[in-house]
Amino acid sequence: MKESPQNNKLEALLRSSKLVAGGFMGSDNRGVLEIIDADKIELSRLGFTCQQLASRMRQITDAAKTGLETWVQIDDNLEAKTEEARGFLPCPWPHAGRFVKRVTIIRRINTSETIQWSDLNIHLIGGHGFFQGRGSNFRIEPAILIKMIF
Ligand SMILES: [Zn+2]
Repeated sequence: MKESPQNNKLEALLRSSKLVAGGFMGSDNRGVLEIIDADKIELSRLGFTCQQLASRMRQITDAAKTGLETWVQIDDNLEAKTEEARGFLPCPWPHAGRFVKRVTIIRRINTSETIQWSDLNIHLIGGHGFFQGRGSNFRIEPAILIKMIF
């Protein structure tokens, strides 16, 4: 794939710790577009779209927010809570958009398995199809995410 200068700039920002500790790419050597393509293929194999995932994540975060940092039951086997921090995170893509530093923790009640995402994660998945690089703090494997929230 031909790399555009704008894409190189995005890639450098995603690999840096400028916005989040450890960056968005983790130890992943693949390019950002390669990561997005691979996850898109995985998602379509599983029969989901990024928009479906982001909308379910948003719904869970909105419900969890009402618990003011205590567990909120989402459905029979799912509970969630949020942790709020001061400040905002900008989207690394070149457009205006900033997101409160909120983390949502999701727990399956029967297995106690947990995953977590930030408000920025929801936007990166819904708006850019970006689940982040392997080894980054907030990488979410699409298959695990689907298993947890649907
Ligand atoms: Zn964005």
